[in-house]
Amino acid sequence: MTDINIRKDGRAGRITLTRPKALNALSYDMCLAVERAIDRWRDDASVDLVLIDAEGEKAFCAGGDIAEMYRTGTAGDFDYGRKFWRDEYRMNAKLAEYPKPVVSFLHGFTMGGGVGLGCHGSHRIVGESSQIAMPEVGIGLIPDVGGTYLLSRAPGRIGEYLGITASRMAAGDAIFAGFADSFVPEAQWQSFKERLCTTGDITSLEEAATTPPDSALAAQQSEIDALFAGEGLQDIHNLLATNDGDLAQKTLKALNRNAPLAMALTIEMLHRLRSPSLTIRKALEMEYRVSHRIMEHGDFLEGIRAQIIDKDKSPKWQYADGSVPAVAVSKILMPLGAEKLDFKESAMKIGFIGLGNMGGPMAANLAKAGHEVSGFDVAGVEIDGVTSVETGPAAAEGADVVITMLPNGSILRAVADTVIPAMKPGAVLLDCSTVDVDSARAVAQQAKAANLGALDAPVSGGIGGAAGGTLTFMVGGNDEAFAIAKPLFDIMGQKAVHCGEAGNGQAAKICNNMVLGVTMIATCEAFALADKLGLSREAMFDVVSTSSGYSWSMNAYCPAPGVGPTSPADNGYLPGFAAELMLKDLRLSQQAAEAADADTPMGEEATALYARFVEDEDGLGQDFSAMLLRFEKRGRG
Ligand code: NAD
Repeated sequence: MTDINIRKDGRAGRITLTRPKALNALSYDMCLAVERAIDRWRDDASVDLVLIDAEGEKAFCAGGDIAEMYRTGTAGDFDYGRKFWRDEYRMNAKLAEYPKPVVSFLHGFTMGGGVGLGCHGSHRIVGESSQIAMPEVGIGLIPDVGGTYLLSRAPGRIGEYLGITASRMAAGDAIFAGFADSFVPEAQWQSFKERLCTTGDITSLEEAATTPPDSALAAQQSEIDALFAGEGLQDIHNLLATNDGDLAQKTLKALNRNAPLAMALTIEMLHRLRSPSLTIRKALEMEYRVSHRIMEHGDFLEGIRAQIIDKDKSPKWQYADGSVPAVAVSKILMPLGAEKLDFKESAMKIGFIGLGNMGGPMAANLAKAGHEVSGFDVAGVEIDGVTSVETGPAAAEGADVVITMLPNGSILRAVADTVIPAMKPGAVLLDCSTVDVDSARAVAQQAKAANLGALDAPVSGGIGGAAGGTLTFMVGGNDEAFAIAKPLFDIMGQKAVHCGEAGNGQAAKICNNMVLGVTMIATCEAFALADKLGLSREAMFDVVSTSSGYSWSMNAYCPAPGVGPTSPADNGYLPGFAAELMLKDLRLSQQAAEAADADTPMGEEATALYARFVEDEDGLGQDFSAMLLRFEKRGRG
């Protein structure tokens, strides 16, 4: 994305806004990119702190990008705005609660959405040019993105004053009001940033920070406290109107420009929020009640029209005389019930291709978790909760993530050829099939050329794991695509190991399955030998499953019917994991071993045995654990 530069720099995870021509206005995609980055860095031991800054001279970030909200909202579609706010507020909460230092450099204008991005971290730095404000009441909205949290914690009635006048704070004011922490002269920012990146050590801020300039706001506090002591907007109005002082008269002028309903809401929210149990989530949840309803019932669209679209600066506010009925305020602040802000990741649109033994239950789990899943399988399979479509490209169209779960690499390549052109830019192609490393890398390259993310993420855990959502994913591909797919891995599995670049997931998978093929054969051999030695299968299982011979093949997928947990052996060896698929994986391991010049004699032997079982005997169509039947029938000769 060109509007934001996310990277690692030394010990820092860095987020730089790169839209200076638009005063670095925060778009929906930028919010999501910030969230993905901080999610990724939370458990990344190579990142000690997060550094947020912006290009250009004028602004750190002058607000949210509201043009699309206006376009959709005036067409009667309120969902886009709600989704934007829901996801942005979740990102704001994550920044406020981040376990590592978040250092923001707030030069020039920091307003609205910029406050949400820059003023919730642990170390907020201001300089000579800083101008911070929450100007939302000027467009009919309340101070959101966690603004009510900061305002309700400001000293005395400073929060009410800033919230409904939209006044700008210079550096000293911002520190006084709790929107910033430290003043560092801007001439030193570059060298200080470099030091932070090199050392990852935030304690160097103590040296860099100097005494902030005096705060004009602090000097006015006692007067502001008196003027803003009223219960509601009307009381404040009355106090201001009966006071001849400069501050009162200037303030009154400011209030006359702003939306009365939004101002009344702001006052009420600050009063409700000001309590010892206040958290950022509580504030954001209340803010979302307003933003959820404001396009439909408030002045937000009219405010944008007057200020930004037509620029006539004469909005037609509701309750223009300033007397906002209490019921209008309480109606907008009513709890939202099921629509409440729950800080969960939004539903994704998913295309799922290949709905067989594994893909079917995986797709069902994604649908159950609330994602919108369209599925396609040449066999015309129907899965509960999944919308069946007629072709692969139809499943891929408009999807955020397209998942493939197919028999082999050549089918994957053929499917990718048709599906990649149908995918939207930025979407991720997530292949969970087990295929050869070359196919995985070729498909990833093809996807990258089409501006898509790509991951190879084969699984282990079998159909039980697919149904129970306990698979392990071995993932190859870049960090960004991994972060997008991570919430889906969390639904379909219990663990996702990021193994490196494209193809590395398949490399991990074939190594794992070489172990599995070998241990399954050894387990079957041992059962057949135990039979001949007169040892009961139950006793054999009890001993081996708790002794040094234990393995997943014995303990979780026992090849002997009636013994251990339920497995395909208890179901007439219906796959499960078909013997021919095991043969496929073993061959992939030998193909890779050959190419890498690795000596794998056990893998080679297991491949030969499964080849005989599937191609010359009766293994085709049986579960891979049916290998036991083969040994039961045979003697040494
Ligand atoms: P499966 O044969 O049950 O499912 C594959 C599905 O793909 C089938 O329903 C088939 O109709 C469909 N298909 C084939 N070509 C298609 C196309 N061009 N377009 C759309 N659909 C198509 O196999 P499975 O057991 O679900 O395994 C799928 C993948 O997962 C394989 O790569 C396998 O190696 C791997 N895997 C399986 C297990 C297991 O226990 N079954 C475990 C781990 C990994």
